[in-house]
Amino acid sequence: MSRWLERTHVEDASSVLRRAIADGFFREDTPAALFHDLGRVRARLAELDACFPEGTLHAVAVKANPLVEILRALVAAGAGLEAASFEEVRLAMAADCPPSRIVFDSPAKTKDELAWALAHGVPINVDNFDELDRIASRIGQTKPAHIGLRVNPQVGGGSIALTSVATRASKFGVPIERRDEIIAAFEAHPFLCALHVHVGSQGMPLATLVEGVRRVDSLRAEIEARTSPGRVHTFDLGGGLPVAYRPDDTPIPLSAYVNGLKETTPGLFAGGLRLVTEFGRAIHATAGWAASRVEYVKQAGDERLAVIHLGADLLVRRAYRPEEWHHEIAVLDAEGRPKGGLTEPVTIVGPLCFSGDVLARGLALPRVDPGDFVVLHDVGAYTLGMWSRHCSRGLPLVLGYDGETLSILKDRETPDDVVAFWSRSREQPPRSEP
Ligand SMILES: *Cc1c(COP(=O)(O)O)cnc(C)c1O
Repeated sequence: MSRWLERTHVEDASSVLRRAIADGFFREDTPAALFHDLGRVRARLAELDACFPEGTLHAVAVKANPLVEILRALVAAGAGLEAASFEEVRLAMAADCPPSRIVFDSPAKTKDELAWALAHGVPINVDNFDELDRIASRIGQTKPAHIGLRVNPQVGGGSIALTSVATRASKFGVPIERRDEIIAAFEAHPFLCALHVHVGSQGMPLATLVEGVRRVDSLRAEIEARTSPGRVHTFDLGGGLPVAYRPDDTPIPLSAYVNGLKETTPGLFAGGLRLVTEFGRAIHATAGWAASRVEYVKQAGDERLAVIHLGADLLVRRAYRPEEWHHEIAVLDAEGRPKGGLTEPVTIVGPLCFSGDVLARGLALPRVDPGDFVVLHDVGAYTLGMWSRHCSRGLPLVLGYDGETLSILKDRETPDDVVAFWSRSREQPPRSEP
C-alpha cells in the first residue's frame, strides 16, 4: 500500500511508546513527548521521486515542521527545503541543505534578506513587482541567481477560509488577472526564469489544486511566445494535498494528483522543464503523534475531565477552530498498552490557564485514569511549529523513530530555557532559583 496515505494506528503508537517508556524517556519532569516516524517521511519522499519526472526538486515546507533534525533527515534523503521566512532559510542551512536546494518564499523579504539570499545562491520566488525591482537593482552584483515569480491563480478558496491562499484578493503573489504586467516583467528582466504557484492543502479539492497549476502553466506559454521558448526553465507547483485527519475523510492519493496534472497540464511532463514541489502537510501530518500522561481526572458538572500536558499550546488551531481541525485521540494504560473495557464519555483538556484549552468533549474512550497515556494522532505538521507560549510551558521532548531505532530530535525545554526565552538577553537570563 502507498505510504502516502498510511496513518499511525494506535497499536503502532503503543509499541513505540512502550519502547520509549522502557528506555526511560518518560520521567516526572517529562510527562509528554512528540513522536515522528522518519521512516514514513522517507518513504513519502521516495514516492514523490517515483511520481514526478527525474530531476524534480521536492522542497519540503519548513513551516510544516521546523525541527532541524527533521530537516536534516529530509535533506539527507535528497529533499530540498521551502522557506517561508529568512529564519527558515537559516534553519535549512543549519540542516546542511545546499543553498541551491532551498526555495525562499516569504511575502515580506527585506532588502538585506534578499541581498543575503542572492549572495549565497539561494533561489528566490518573488512575491510582487516591488520586490522584483529590489532584486533588479542588485542583480549583476552577485553570482547568477535563480529567480521565480509567484503568481496567484485566483482559483478561489477551499472549505477552510484561513488557509486558502488563492482567492481573488489573496495577499500572496501577483494576481493572474494582471497577466500583461507579468509578461512585461519577464520581457524586462532576463534573470526571471521560473514561475511559482501555491494553492494550499487542507480543505482544497483536487480539481482546484490542478486548475491553479493549469492556469499558471498557460501563462508560461504566453510568456514564452513573447520572449523565447524555454525561457521559463523551472515551474514550482507549490505545496498542497490535504490529509485525512478523520477516519472517514477521503484523502487524495499522490497518484491521483499527478494524474490530474498530467491530464490538464501535459506540458509540465513533456521534458525540458524542471519541476519543483513544496509539500508540507502531506509529508509530515500523519507521520507525527503525541503522548501525554494524564495528570488528573476530575468531575465537573456532568463531565469527566482528563487533564493532560499538551493542549492549545500544541494544537492552537484545534482549540480555536475545532470544527475545522480534528485530531483522533486514543487512550493507553500507564505502561503504554491499549486499554479495553466499556467506553465512557470523557473530555480531554490541556494544561493552560484558559477555558478554551479543550481538545475534545465527551469522547467515548475506555475509562481514562490518572497515569494513563492519551495519544493525539496526526500532529506532525503545523503543531510544534505553531507552538503557543501562552502560560509559558516548555516545548515537549520530540523523539524520532525509524523501525526499531528511537532517537531524540529535540530535548524538552526546561523551566530555565523558558526563563531564558522571555529574558532581555538569552546569554544572561536572571537566576530563576534562589
Ligand atoms: C505553506 C506553504 C507550502 C506548504 O503547504 P502545505 O499545505 O503544507 O502542503 C508550500 N509553499 C508555500 C509557498 C507555502 O506557503
